[in-house]
Amino acid sequence: MTKILIPTETSSGERRVSATPEAVKKLISLGCEVYVENSAGKLSGFSDFNYQDAGGKIITSTDLNIWRDADIVFCVQIPSEENLSKLKKGAILLGLLNPYGNKDLLEVIINNGISALSLELLPRISRAQSSDVLSSQANIAGYKAVLLAASELDRYFPMLMTAAGTVQPAKVVVLGGGVAGLQAVATAKRLGAIVFVSDIRPAVKEQVESLGARFIELPEIEEKPGEVGGYAKAVTPEFLSKQKVTLTKYLSEADVAICTAQVLGKKAPILIDSPMLEKMRPGAVVIDLAVSQGGNCEGTKSNETIIKDGVKLIGAGELPSTVPYDASSLYAKNLTSLITPFIKDGVINLDKEDELISGCLLSDEGIVLQDKIFEN
Ligand code: NAD
Repeated sequence: MTKILIPTETSSGERRVSATPEAVKKLISLGCEVYVENSAGKLSGFSDFNYQDAGGKIITSTDLNIWRDADIVFCVQIPSEENLSKLKKGAILLGLLNPYGNKDLLEVIINNGISALSLELLPRISRAQSSDVLSSQANIAGYKAVLLAASELDRYFPMLMTAAGTVQPAKVVVLGGGVAGLQAVATAKRLGAIVFVSDIRPAVKEQVESLGARFIELPEIEEKPGEVGGYAKAVTPEFLSKQKVTLTKYLSEADVAICTAQVLGKKAPILIDSPMLEKMRPGAVVIDLAVSQGGNCEGTKSNETIIKDGVKLIGAGELPSTVPYDASSLYAKNLTSLITPFIKDGVINLDKEDELISGCLLSDEGIVLQDKIFEN
């Protein structure tokens, strides 16, 4: 019978858990045994009792020999070197392994013959939607970015008509209208702000307008920005400098900028540089969700708030973890939906020809399958 381990996350600031009691119940119904490290779900709102009720076996740090016996380990972030080294050859690890940022730990995975599924690499095709952790977590980041901005801003979001006068609605500029950006638009609109969006993919115009926001038209330039499979390609320096001229006008009147623009496998584009920041009003707030890819705003730093020329710059790379109950619930559903088709009568048999599995399988019992990650 396949033994699945749900460990307590150990990365600093991580409040999510990789499986909820509901997910544990589902895995048990497939014939697996599920071991949950004690307090694994505590920071996400799930007690050991909830897991026991669902049929999970709670283990304490003294029983952690289970790392040696586990056939599958669910995780949110990659486990420590100490725990990875305990896993047996052929054990399957699945989670957000951050392959480009964790090369040392990937070496441990390979040397120990572990099979590792890195969910960031899951192909973004229709069939993958129920397993798409990037989308489920980006949605949360977009929502929470707006709430964070609203609580840090020195004024209201909605328009208010009071006996003391009329308060004008806040102006929010969203840079990047992908999953996080569209959720930021929807949340800022619900709070009553006027929202403007910049994106380089033409399809985004209709999407943002259907949410009641205004699309910032792209600069007129012969060489249009490209896209592959729905993802933006990096723009030319000429385009970027024209885009910044347009954005300066909007940012100089904005109260909030939410930065979500990214280019797959590349550093995020700098869309707000220092001269543009100088033109923003003191008291304005910039939330940079792209900070872990270098950021869209010059000077933002992960998990830090910096005041520059009176503008609050917040590097917010880990917002999903601040909504841990829902983030964990969606994440756990994503993971279980990915592996469920490969578990029959309690036995896991990954089909390595399957497009979803081959797309995110980094290491097959130690054989490197995604060479590009190890190239640099
Ligand atoms: P992302 O996080 O890679 O990028 C966020 C946004 O930044 C994108 O909309 C991109 O166009 C934009 N951007 C890049 N450079 C920019 C620039 N210079 N200025 C302004 N904006 C810029 O994107 P994402 O949220 O992961 O979504 C990307 C695409 O993938 C979308 O088309 C989305 O519909 C699609 N998608 C498909 C699936 C699926 O089918 N399973 C799931 C999720 C997303």
